[in-house]
Amino acid sequence: MSPAAISTECVIIGAGPVGLFAVFELGLLGMKCEILDSLAHPGGQCTELYPDKPIYDIPALPVCGAKELVDRLLEQIKPFHAGFHLGQEVTGLAKLPSGRFEIETSAGTRFDAGSVIIAAGLGSFQPRRLMVPDAERFEGTQIHYRVRRAEDFHGKDLLIAGGGDSALDWTLEFCGKARSVALVHRRAEFRAQPASVVRMKELASAGKLRHLEGTIQSLSVDGDRMTGASILGRDKSTTDVRCDLLLACFGLHPKLGPVANWGLALEKKALRVDTEKFGTSIPGIFAIGDINSYAGKKKLILSGFHEAALAAFGVQHYLYPEKRQFLQYTTTSPIMRERLGVAPPD
Ligand SMILES: Cc1cc2nc3c(=O)[nH]c(=O)nc-3n(C[C@H](O)[C@H](O)[C@H](O)COP(=O)(O)OP(=O)(O)OC[C@H]3O[C@@H](n4cnc5c(N)ncnc54)[C@H](O)[C@@H]3O)c2cc1C
Repeated sequence: MSPAAISTECVIIGAGPVGLFAVFELGLLGMKCEILDSLAHPGGQCTELYPDKPIYDIPALPVCGAKELVDRLLEQIKPFHAGFHLGQEVTGLAKLPSGRFEIETSAGTRFDAGSVIIAAGLGSFQPRRLMVPDAERFEGTQIHYRVRRAEDFHGKDLLIAGGGDSALDWTLEFCGKARSVALVHRRAEFRAQPASVVRMKELASAGKLRHLEGTIQSLSVDGDRMTGASILGRDKSTTDVRCDLLLACFGLHPKLGPVANWGLALEKKALRVDTEKFGTSIPGIFAIGDINSYAGKKKLILSGFHEAALAAFGVQHYLYPEKRQFLQYTTTSPIMRERLGVAPPD
């Protein structure tokens, strides 16, 4: 029997900076939510694409690292105890005749939500795939883009491709545990931590692993098994590498993905919204941050924060239409201070 759906006032799809701030705005208005992301960690583009870069246009923070911004947002939303569901992509979203929403993730988690805020940014981050003939056939069996269980790689002939931290970290991790490890990267320079590169080169010099400069050109196949790969070197030489498993760490890229299939009006590959409450074409579903489109839209974190505040009022009105809405300040509102878990105003 599938587990019961989690019931909540609002599901937020996307735990990027804008989705995280929506938790805060809903919380201030006294509403509970669950937040979901296909990535294993919160922060969206900030943590996935530029964690160490400084941001200079967040109000009142003259400079703030992208990862630091996410950490600050996580701290700010703590009082509201949102449920986090990471590492699962939202695959299904449907409106029920009752006006509530049914949401399902790739991990089979189900939600029964009163409303939905889509804060899906540029889309769901997907691994960049190995684009050589036959690769698709072996994806999920002998070709992997992430390590789910490290033990599955032990005792195997392993080819790792890539030049970033993931490729280097797994090369070092599996050296001595896999039967053999070969690392292939298209350039001499790596994007990984310099210390990892130094260690990898030491192990290669000691004959504990192979390091090849080049690109995977083709796969060797014997019946229904992949048995190796052919590497085209920068000097145009070809080297055959035996492998049972190939781990391709080419990074992630965002893809609009399932969001496009939920029957919502699209405009410029984004969700069309009004600018009063950032409602989509389906009442009860709101869209904020980089995923939405309206006249004058600017894909900035600052704009997303504003949209989150107005969408929270939109959610409140959708759920409780009879409730009178009025603006309260965190400075002076006893109820907001109580929700924030801070002392009442003097
Ligand atoms: C290099 C770089 C520098 C930048 N610098 C600045 C700057 O200085 N100032 C500024 O204001 N902006 C900057 N930006 C833009 C800023 O990062 C974005 O505007 C911001 O991240 C948008 O936030 P978001 O929450 O809307 O979306 P995102 O950060 O894209 O987060 C969306 C999240 O939704 C998840 N998701 C999508 N679809 C699904 C699904 N179906 N199921 C589950 N999860 C899903 C994704 O995995 C992702 O984590 C920069 C961007 C880049 C790339």
